Amino acid sequence: MFSFSALSALLAGHLVQAPADPSAEVRHLLLDSRRVGVPTGALFFALRGPSHDGHRYLPALYAQGVRLFIVAEGAALPDGLTAYPEAGIIAVASPLAALQAIAAAHRATFAGPVLAITGSNGKTIVKEWLAQLLSADEDICRSPRSFNSQVGVPLSVWELNPERHTLGIFEAGISEVGEMARLAAVIQPTEGIFTTLGTAHDAGFASHEQKLAEKLQLFQGPQFQRLFYCHDQPLVRAAVAAHQLPGFSWTRHAGQPADIHFALDQSTAGSTSLHAQYAGAGLEAAFTLPFSDEPSVENALHCLAVLLQRQVEPAEIQRRLARLHPVAMRLEMKLGRHDAYLLDDTYNNDLAGLALALNALGRQSRPGRRTLILSDVLESGLRGEELYARVARLLQPANVTRLVGIGPEINRRQSFFTELKTAGGLLLSTDFYPSTEAFLAGLDAAHFAREIILVKGARRFGFERIVAALQAQQHGTVLEVNLDALSHNLQHYRRQLQPGTKLMVMVKAFAYGAGSYEVASLLEFQRADYLAVAYADEGVALREAGISLPIMVMNPAPDSFGTLRHYRLEPEIYSFEMLKEYLEAFPTDAEETVGASPLPSHVSPPPIHLKLDTGMRRLGFDEADLPELMGLLRQHAARLPVASIMTHLAAADEAGHDEFTQEQLATFRRMAAAVEAALGHAVLKHALNSAGILRFPDAHFDMVRLGIGLYGVDASRRDNDALRPVSQLRTTISQIKTLPAGRTVGYGRRGSATEGDRRIATLAIGYADGYDRRFGNGAGTVLIHGQPAPLVGSVCMDMCMVDVTHIPQARPGDVALVFGEGLPLPELAARIGTIAYELLTNVSERVKRVFVSE
Ligand SMILES: *Cc1c(COP(=O)(O)O)cnc(C)c1O
Repeated sequence: MFSFSALSALLAGHLVQAPADPSAEVRHLLLDSRRVGVPTGALFFALRGPSHDGHRYLPALYAQGVRLFIVAEGAALPDGLTAYPEAGIIAVASPLAALQAIAAAHRATFAGPVLAITGSNGKTIVKEWLAQLLSADEDICRSPRSFNSQVGVPLSVWELNPERHTLGIFEAGISEVGEMARLAAVIQPTEGIFTTLGTAHDAGFASHEQKLAEKLQLFQGPQFQRLFYCHDQPLVRAAVAAHQLPGFSWTRHAGQPADIHFALDQSTAGSTSLHAQYAGAGLEAAFTLPFSDEPSVENALHCLAVLLQRQVEPAEIQRRLARLHPVAMRLEMKLGRHDAYLLDDTYNNDLAGLALALNALGRQSRPGRRTLILSDVLESGLRGEELYARVARLLQPANVTRLVGIGPEINRRQSFFTELKTAGGLLLSTDFYPSTEAFLAGLDAAHFAREIILVKGARRFGFERIVAALQAQQHGTVLEVNLDALSHNLQHYRRQLQPGTKLMVMVKAFAYGAGSYEVASLLEFQRADYLAVAYADEGVALREAGISLPIMVMNPAPDSFGTLRHYRLEPEIYSFEMLKEYLEAFPTDAEETVGASPLPSHVSPPPIHLKLDTGMRRLGFDEADLPELMGLLRQHAARLPVASIMTHLAAADEAGHDEFTQEQLATFRRMAAAVEAALGHAVLKHALNSAGILRFPDAHFDMVRLGIGLYGVDASRRDNDALRPVSQLRTTISQIKTLPAGRTVGYGRRGSATEGDRRIATLAIGYADGYDRRFGNGAGTVLIHGQPAPLVGSVCMDMCMVDVTHIPQARPGDVALVFGEGLPLPELAARIGTIAYELLTNVSERVKRVFVSE
């Protein structure tokens, strides 16, 4: 721990103001005003991002009791220094560098070994598995989930406790040149693992070699002793030699000069047996891994190399390997029975994991009670009392209203929870059960109706049974929406914007099929400025789910104006008829008309967005309408709250039409200036969709309207690599039949087996789920066990058939990927002559959405 007074020297910053309490100690590091938790000892870093400025949150933090701040040199503090009379404030050149420096200083107080993991794939799994495999020997501090960034690494390292931990395991991930040296300074590893060097093109690097050299910077410094790596990766091997790193290598090939040789004997469904030889220690042994898929085997071999090097007894290693389980690193959000909403996190349950899951719960804006179903918390090193006192402190910021505690330990600590107040000041309601079985025996899902339920349990409590009991029934087809990918794409577009440019995000059409509430909720958390929907109903649904961001409605029916006002929804006005209807719907007392409801003086009419037609020829005022429009605006300026002026481009994604687009933009500038002149003041102006944002950086105006790009499709086809696919549509095999040569499949007998016997799998997806009929008869393919299987015959209403003759391991119940990683939407769309937008929005609402996040 650091005293605040010692910090300015450490950070080479300047002390703007000493805290009222001169003995104030830094206990935790804080980056987000929504995650304050315990304010005493919290040190806030005002980080700046592409469209984010942490300094804006100082007043809110101060009001919550936070007293210690690191700010950027020269940044203006909201309301001036006098607004923070008790605060200690240090100004530094870079608050991010300060965060890293504090973590580095803290790391230096730990004398034990620290293992750093990097590579293109498998970092998190290798880290989690090593933690499982070494937990009997060590008290381990590890990064929660995949906290491996410039910000995540310092926060993870800060959790190292020199009095408690005996080993640190941290992962490091980078996206640009120069980042790894900073992470190395924070982690100061004594050992390292390089998992794999991926083949994926990486936007931030000129070449593979550059990326590799950058990553290897993690393994430097006088303290560094040993790098575990796979000898069979030639680039890595060469680089380790060139940098003269102290290596410890393993290989799968006989005769190679590596420290450990693995000979894989055989692999059956779900297990792999192998022989290991570590000549340097005179050791030979056989092991069985509980996996057969290649990535899991590769990850397990990295771990095995570490255990062998540490000379853990082979019999003991085998015992631990047998208990290794796949890492479900993701929090899944699912629809529950009785309109409940489930956050399923049943993989592990330590404090860091619990804190993350509670953050996810705290982010939900849906109204309704929040229940936490919690098993014993398994945390090595902390005594029961201290542990459950800390658990109790985590509950309030997440707005938990009810706790169901399951397990002997949490039962013994009931008193920590029964006196607890909720965020609303009520007593937390609590129920305790000795075991999962006892809870399930009395479970009635109706008792959880309309609640948000976080299910968080350590593996051995088998909480997946609780999830199964509370979850709505699913048919075999699921649209999985990756919220991390969504955040990633949002940041990608944000980086293109000038500071201060606002971001409106289109969540029309069920958020392009992805699920309106969840996407809107994430956008609210990520501080988007505006949402937009097509119809009033969509906006109402978002408001009723608790979304409070401003929402523009692009095509409101005139009779919905009352609803718009009631739900604070803002109409787009694109014609004189609409403008007149708006004026009639919200008359002033003086001009009250028959039939219209006069406006109660305390409710103002909703702000409006004027749509100008500059060439799309769809909706909006034409340039020829300007004189009349300006007249009306002048006449009613006082009661026409114009929030923005907008236009829409007809061909923002097509270079061939750029001249036309530039004309549209010039027309927009001209028309907007005239409208602003009539209003007598400036208003927000916006014109660009996703493709436009990337292609016309000079026309961002005050706001941009992000759509398809957020969902992972780059309509401008410029940097698809920078976006991550968000949605994955998958279904299951219902049955497999053998089709003898010459027989036909399905309606109209359009599929036939012409080249000998075929194996045909029937999938549980059809056109009623949104799987286009045009994919029939070979136009479409799905992926089964990673292999393409072409469609046979016509797509039916609820089913379709694919050929799996060449995939002998395919079985009923297996998953078939319809689109997602490996089956990119633009390519699929092109096969049937449509666009990715249509495939996304066609996925019918009967298909269950599952939301995942790391
Ligand atoms: C849908 C829509 C957008 C977003 O378009 P994308 O191509 O999905 O980015 C922007 N503006 C308007 C008016 C829209 O209707």
